[in-house]
Amino acid sequence: MELIDGKYRLCGGIDPLELCRQYGTPLYVYDASIMERQYRRLISAFSYPKIRIHYACKALTNLAVLQFFQRLGTGLDCVSIQEVQLGLKAGFSPEEILYTPNFAALDEYAEAVRLGVRINIDAIPMLENWSLHYRDIPICIRINPHIKAGGHDNISVGHVDSKFGISIHQLPHVLRIVESQGLHVEGLHMHTGSDILDVDVFLRGAEILFEVARKFPDLQFIDLGSGFKVPYKPDDIETDVEELGLKLSQRFEAFCQEYGRKLKLILEPGKFLVSEAGYLFARCTLVKQTTSTVFVGLDTGFNHLIRPMFYGAYHRIVNVTEPNFKPRIYTVVGNMCETDTFAVDRRIPEVVEGDILAFFNAGAYGWMMASNYNSRPRPAEVFIYKGKAHLVRRRETLDDLLATQLPFEDW
Ligand SMILES: *Cc1c(COP(=O)(O)O)cnc(C)c1O
Repeated sequence: MELIDGKYRLCGGIDPLELCRQYGTPLYVYDASIMERQYRRLISAFSYPKIRIHYACKALTNLAVLQFFQRLGTGLDCVSIQEVQLGLKAGFSPEEILYTPNFAALDEYAEAVRLGVRINIDAIPMLENWSLHYRDIPICIRINPHIKAGGHDNISVGHVDSKFGISIHQLPHVLRIVESQGLHVEGLHMHTGSDILDVDVFLRGAEILFEVARKFPDLQFIDLGSGFKVPYKPDDIETDVEELGLKLSQRFEAFCQEYGRKLKLILEPGKFLVSEAGYLFARCTLVKQTTSTVFVGLDTGFNHLIRPMFYGAYHRIVNVTEPNFKPRIYTVVGNMCETDTFAVDRRIPEVVEGDILAFFNAGAYGWMMASNYNSRPRPAEVFIYKGKAHLVRRRETLDDLLATQLPFEDW
């Protein structure tokens, strides 16, 4: 979204205020052209020809978005059987889906086997189960290289006491099971967590995986996960994907030479592909001045965008209604009966009741982490494709909140 002649405009010149009038607030809006820009930027950073991007769809699983990525030509990374089912519904073929759950029950894996998707094993007991039930089904193994990367403890998944992956220190045990049971390992995987700021940290993880790969002669692919950081504020540091593409292509090419075959190189970004493509629009319900602070209150809260409270994430906030007023200093809060502060001491053009504010970078982990806390419905979603806006999820109603409840009458 850009300022054009003093007014905010979405892709195709769409007026966001018009969308808010039409569909109400709060409202999530996604711009497909930004998703495509990110995909092309990533893929063209790599000279290695057998590069594949798997969209990590937990970031945003609206069917329109999944279908869009399917058409662009990505694969899919799914962390639950429901994401697998959504991916298949969106048209992905099973071979293009990697199922990477954590602490999923065996019957979820059984369903994944039935659906024919690729399966990523991330625990030794599950590997043992595999040899009992599905010895002939090829697997990928998720290795935890214990590279400490990540912007926040909750999203840093590579460190030593992380629950993700099989520790690199347990590799001898893994090899024993694989060899004695004759398991067919077709892939190796790592995902060290979000927010990789340093390309060399990422490459260190890759190096560890290459070392492991030498022990598995039948590999088809190596999946290096994600952790690509996008800018959330002006001049923010972001992962230098061009540098990564250059260095990793060279290194991977050399590794394959040594391995004897050109393997598929998979990356599975979520945030990188969809974060900047999404906005959350909300209406100011009240401006409230206390002795020390001016609060801008919105018709949304951490029930709709929890990242600021959960991760301490910074989201840029603008006044869409009055972008040209003199900025004032505000604390922006939600309408939950709970402390839900989006931003403290933020400079925003003067806000009055009824103004529409926009959160940037709301495409990834925005709607997906929304809840019905305080019994408020979740927002509608609009998808902008080729310069036209389409409603792809309606706003919830009280009936939706009641839909799964069963009457209790045995008083
Ligand atoms: C969440 C997740 C990703 C995507 O992470 P981003 O930070 O959104 O890019 C990739 N792979 C796996 C296994 C994940 O769980």
